[in-house]
Amino acid sequence: MTAVLPAIRVASLSYAYPGGKSVLRDICFEIPRGEIVALVGPSGAGKSTLLMHLNGLLPERIESVSGPTRIEIAGIPLEKTKLPQVRQLVGFVFQDPDDQLFCPTIREDVAFGPLNVGLPRDVLLERVQRNLASVGLAGYEHRSTLQLSVGEKKRVCLAGVLASEPEVLALDEPFSNLDPRARKGLIGILKRFPGTQLIATHDLDLVVELCHRVLVLDAGEIRANGPVRQVLSDPVLMDKHGLEVPYQLR
Ligand code: ADP
Repeated sequence: MTAVLPAIRVASLSYAYPGGKSVLRDICFEIPRGEIVALVGPSGAGKSTLLMHLNGLLPERIESVSGPTRIEIAGIPLEKTKLPQVRQLVGFVFQDPDDQLFCPTIREDVAFGPLNVGLPRDVLLERVQRNLASVGLAGYEHRSTLQLSVGEKKRVCLAGVLASEPEVLALDEPFSNLDPRARKGLIGILKRFPGTQLIATHDLDLVVELCHRVLVLDAGEIRANGPVRQVLSDPVLMDKHGLEVPYQLR
């Protein structure tokens, strides 16, 4: 019997930006398929940097003390030759939607990912429509992203990523700048997503509501990795890493 490969496997990942100090130190974790995992920690902990490694946005790593870096998505190693394959598996949503949106119309932005896999036009248009509707933006196809609020732009980014039907979602602060209705809508979308998710967020109430497990990252190191309620209800651990026990767990 073949063992089921984890959706995400990261071993011995260390990183420093060119000319900068060390940002990630010897990161190791695995996420089984279908699990929703939160990545929490104070600002500057390295959360965005870690997420960006999952689809090869930061290729130049530094040596870890524990051995060579290995990052695998669904068993596929993140190597130069496998990058297009890995990027099809990982849907990445940037913290700032302006880093992600670049087409003149929303339809083109949402279609960009699935277009790259050569879908027929009718299938492509149906995917664009369906995924815009799923984020509450039905009928926005012909509008310009310049005419949207930040929250709407974030939803367009998510629609684009979902339209590519990835196995893994890597989401960087998806809930910032969303009003309560949009936030609730997004929670519903993520709960229905059948794949694996790693979500960097400061919204710990959301973590309790949505996630199975939590990784606490501080100063580039994983300081805790466990079930959400167990980790987030520990006042000493939370305080030590600049976090607060969420309201629901007090
Ligand atoms: P977080 O997402 O947890 O707030 P980041 O991954 O954005 O943390 O940043 C981690 C550290 O890396 C911070 O000290 C930040 O200043 C630094 N950093 C982030 N981006 C760059 C960059 N492009 N060049 C140099 N340093 C960076």
